[in-house]
Amino acid sequence: MPNSKLIDRCNRKLNYLRISITDRCNLKCVYCVPYDFIPKLPHKEILSYEEILHIVKISVRLGISKVRITGGEPLVRKGVYDFLEQLTKIQGLLDISLTTNGVLLKDNINKIKSAGIKRINISLDTLNRKKFRQITGYDFFNQIWEGIELAQKMGFDPIKINVVPLKGVNYDELLDIAALSIAYPFHIRFIEYMPMGTNQMEIGRHLLFPEIKKQINQLGKLIPVEKGMNDGPAERFKFESARGEIGFIRPISRHFCNTCNRLRLTASGQLRPCLMSDVQVDLKTPLRKGCSDDELTEVFLKAVRLKPSEHNLSVDHPAGISAQMCAIGG
Ligand code: SAM
Repeated sequence: MPNSKLIDRCNRKLNYLRISITDRCNLKCVYCVPYDFIPKLPHKEILSYEEILHIVKISVRLGISKVRITGGEPLVRKGVYDFLEQLTKIQGLLDISLTTNGVLLKDNINKIKSAGIKRINISLDTLNRKKFRQITGYDFFNQIWEGIELAQKMGFDPIKINVVPLKGVNYDELLDIAALSIAYPFHIRFIEYMPMGTNQMEIGRHLLFPEIKKQINQLGKLIPVEKGMNDGPAERFKFESARGEIGFIRPISRHFCNTCNRLRLTASGQLRPCLMSDVQVDLKTPLRKGCSDDELTEVFLKAVRLKPSEHNLSVDHPAGISAQMCAIGG
């Protein structure tokens, strides 16, 4: 990353921007969306695609080389495929990926591919149709699974499957889910539940890495996979002769703040330097006032200066922040 200007006070180079393009979602996952959550920011409060692309171009000049599109559910936003196509044309972006719940994958996979997206993460917490409905409120399991299989046939690689393990919810399925990495070239990512916002699950339902790994170890020896240069925070493993991988993301049991390289842009145009902090810097207002790129650069630099050295979320200290995951994008 030559000439990176996004270096924070802990000497971390921030080269990864996660962009939530909408606060709306077509699922209501129990651990993500509060019962009483009414997202629907007024249309005018949401950054237009042109505005997002403008921000991305500025960010690339400052050192961002990796972008993930998320939401809410990004595929529910009108015009998303044209937007993705514009995004993948931006010079200097080396890695562009998408996180989706997969509900709209099957019918739109061709458009995602022709837009130039090669990597997708799909969130799926169960392989059981009935349980899927209990977790998400909707009966979309079959179409999501068809979408995942289609994505594989069409050459998306890697396909990462995000799973949030929860006691009494999907604990009994962790082995079956992990076994997908043997039969398919999927990367299964077990992400520790982060208690945030107003709908925090009871603490007793937390499952942390040691317990998750112990459970999954029953399937076979987990062989560590060497970390690549551009790897995220996942601790990676593989079962012998498996086609795919297992990864553990441990925001609670092992903070990875010292290697955090992320900034987040919310659908409402706020730059957030830390997922676990309510600190944010407004980009939308100066952007809409017609500020110059230099002035917008200053907003980026301010967010970088405000990046905390670490978050303080833990099992004993769950009341992290007031913002909901579904509003930030994960
Ligand atoms: N709708 C898209 C999806 O479902 O992938 C993108 C947004 S969703 C907020 C992004 C990721 O955050 C999903 O993988 C979801 O499982 C994860 N997530 C949501 N709430 C979480 C929480 N409280 N703790 C850990 N992960 C969470």
